[in-house]
Parts: sequence; structure tokens; C-alpha cells
Amino acid sequence: MRPYVVVNIAMSADGKISTRERRQVRISGTQDFTRVDQLKAGCDAIMVGIGTVLADDPSLTVKSEKCLNYRRKQGWDDHPLRVVVDSSGATPPDASILHKGKGKRVVAVSKRADPIKISLLEKKATILVAGKDEVDLIVLMDKLGNLGIHRIMVEGGGTLIAGLMKAGLVNEIYTFIGNIIIGGKDAPTITDGEGFIKESEFTRLTLLEARRIDNGILLHWKVNGPEPKQD
Ligand code: NAP
Repeated sequence: MRPYVVVNIAMSADGKISTRERRQVRISGTQDFTRVDQLKAGCDAIMVGIGTVLADDPSLTVKSEKCLNYRRKQGWDDHPLRVVVDSSGATPPDASILHKGKGKRVVAVSKRADPIKISLLEKKATILVAGKDEVDLIVLMDKLGNLGIHRIMVEGGGTLIAGLMKAGLVNEIYTFIGNIIIGGKDAPTITDGEGFIKESEFTRLTLLEARRIDNGILLHWKVNGPEPKQD
């Protein structure tokens, strides 16, 4: 079965997720950090795009002892399966995501990935091939489902989220909106990519919750998908 996909992302009051130089910015506070840790701890896998790995070098590990103990009690690995979406196999072999914390990793590549890079990554991760030139996200999700992954958290960035939205693969979105303005027309947003043109293609959402948290607001959305096509 295809996994249930939850996107979690922090953005500034003006809708940016980092600076125009793609430099990581601290947008949320400790309360939101705890919420994200809990969300992560409840997932089987956590996914990011190669852009995020290269920009931020995240480890995507579960941080608090409470959350680690919760996972251990379930008989799960300390950290969810970490998945990098990386068509060409550009994940640096010394990336934190491949080294920090116990647990399994997947690097999802396309058929165009360099075999030499793949042979280096294979030492640290399972390689899943999906798609010809870029990772086919539907094929990838099906492969992850076959590995027993039921619930995936996606931590960004905007290009990967756009691809997942376009493919109709996102079920829920959490957006934390922090009290800063980052600015810049080229600064990434939560859904970059090409964008939709026709209104009928827009992704429709239902607001499940709006909650004041730290110095910002947390919005929790359910994704309805595009409007049904008119005959
Ligand atoms: P990204 O979304 O992390 O990764 C995008 C890359 O994934 C693509 O360029 C593409 O590279 C690869 N990819 C492969 N198949 C794909 C497909 N079917 N659809 C979409 N992407 C596919 O990169 P990004 O948009 O540059 O975002 C990185 C920025 O987001 C950084 O500045 C980071 O700090 C920020 N960020 C912010 C937050 C937050 O919560 N505020 C969280 C995460 C990231 P290849 O073609 O080379 O495979």
C-alpha cells in the first residue's frame, strides 16, 4: 500500500523557508521543535530532497529521550528510515543523514545516476531506482510501501514538496509560520517547482487546526487534492 504522507515545514511570515542563498534559518522555537520531534518519532520514514541535504546537511534523527524511548518500546529503530530523493546520486558519502544515529537509509535515484557514486552510497544506504531522468515519486512511494513503510514525514524542501503535490501524494501538511520576514523573490517557499497555472489544478486544502505556538502559528491542513474535472 502507498504510504500516508505528512509534510512538515517552517516558513517566515512572508512565506519563505530559507534565504535566497538557500541558507538555513531558525524559524521556529522550542515548543515547535518538540512537536516536530514527536511527529518524526511516530513515522516510519522521513524524506528530504537532495537540495536540502546539500544546503542544510540534516541528520533527521529523533532527538528527545522521551521520543527515543517511545520508539524503542514499539520495537522500532531509534530513528525512522531516512530517505533522500536524489536523481543523480549526488548525496555526499559523508553527509550526516548517512552517518548520524542508528537506523536504515534509502537513497532514491533515477536511471541516470552515476554508477560510481551509487557504489559509494551503497555502503551506507539501500539504493532504490525509480524513474528515468528524475525520481518518479509515485514509483518510489510504491517501493517504500512494499518495504513496509506506512507513514512518511517530508521535511522539504520546496522543490520536492512541489513534486509530491503535483503527483497527488501528500495527505497532510503542517506549516509553522514564524515571526520573521526573510524576503527575496528567489527565496524558496514551501511549494516551488513550476507551479500550477489552471485553477482546476490547484491543490485544495481543509484547515484542521490553527494553534498559537512559540511566537508564531501552526496550521494543520488536510489535502483534498485538485477540484474534480468538469465534463
Ligand atoms: P529539495 O526540495 O530539498 O530537493 C529538490 C531536488 O530533489 C531537486 O532539485 C531534484 O534534484 C531532486 N528530485 C528528484 N526527483 C524529484 C522529483 N520528482 N520532484 C522534485 N524533486 C526531485 O531542494 P530545494 O527546493 O532547493 O530546497 C532546499 C531549501 O529548502 C534549502 O534552502 C533548505 O534550507 C530549505 N528547507 C527549509 C525547511 C524549513 O522547514 N524551513 C525544511 C527543509 C528545507 P536532482 O534532479 O538532482 O535529483
